[in-house]
Amino acid sequence: MRRRNNDASLRRAQTLYTAVLSHSSDFIFTLSPQGAVTSVNRALEIVLGRPRDSIAGMAFSDFVHSGADCGSIVGRSNAADSTAHYDACIGFPGGSCREVQLSENAMEEEGITTGYLVVATDITERKKLEQDLKDANARLEALVHLDGLTGIGNRRHFDHRLKEEWDRSVRAGTPLSLIIIDADFFKKYNDAYGHIAGDACLTLLAQTLANQLERSGDTIARYGGEEFAVILPLTDEAGARTVAERMRAAVERLNHRHEGQEDSSILTISLGLHSLRPVYGLSRETSKDLVIGADKALYEAKRAGRNRFCAFSDLKEEN
Ligand code: GH3
Ligand code: MG
Ligand code: MG
Repeated sequence: MRRRNNDASLRRAQTLYTAVLSHSSDFIFTLSPQGAVTSVNRALEIVLGRPRDSIAGMAFSDFVHSGADCGSIVGRSNAADSTAHYDACIGFPGGSCREVQLSENAMEEEGITTGYLVVATDITERKKLEQDLKDANARLEALVHLDGLTGIGNRRHFDHRLKEEWDRSVRAGTPLSLIIIDADFFKKYNDAYGHIAGDACLTLLAQTLANQLERSGDTIARYGGEEFAVILPLTDEAGARTVAERMRAAVERLNHRHEGQEDSSILTISLGLHSLRPVYGLSRETSKDLVIGADKALYEAKRAGRNRFCAFSDLKEEN
């Protein structure tokens, strides 16, 4: 009687086991202690496109591989544990591969490992969604730093880059220069040609100024309205003067009509520059001083007649 009951429970367990293996959408397979495949479930048999019998005996590495085309096994939990969880790829005939989350469980009988049960959940779609989300975030992050009109960096970008470069200068004791640029009589430009033409002119100006920068570490940003700012790392005042004059001359060379000017009939800019070489632990200056100095120099360039640059050090000499 007891034996009949035992047989019945065994049959029920086997039916359940077969049903789970047949109907699970996860890939389930068992391995010998040496890693040879001993059985696979229906889902795996279908995607591999070959009968179960021909799969038995294949090496574990024939399924789970870390080739460049499939990415790599990214993490294997505590190897000493009887259960390991890690992400991997299962290569399929035809070269396609699916990313899976593997759960590898040691099967033991009386303390001896008799094989492994591996359950692989397909996470390809989830990984793709995660990547799409990361890409979208990166695109958004880039947009947050862009000026919508001119396509160059915006004020936020400027603040971020100035802090970055100021800190680097302080650490390394290297010079840092800042140029603030302002379009001359721009209110009159709008009055004469309208705001749409004014916007187009600012875009042209931004691109012209950006084209004068030669080093990859240089940053140009729209500081606000018709003002732009240029951060020049590792650049002393002599270098900044060269860049400022190059920008001034490039805008003049545009020969862009601006009849509203007092002394000129073309678009011009005024520039103020300031250079500092902060010394680690000794400098009392901050990045704000760089901006204040460049701003004062710009004011002086305006006062002196526009279409010119002025350096903060020129002002100090005057005082
Ligand atoms: P100055 O030579 O002294 O700099 O004179 P300005 O007229 O350029 O200076 P002001 O500060 O009086 O005026 C700046 C003008 O820039 C005001 C506004 O008409 C124009 N402006 C600022 N932002 C924009 C913008 O996004 N688009 C357009 N079209 N014009 C702008
Ligand atoms: Mg201005
Ligand atoms: Mg102006």
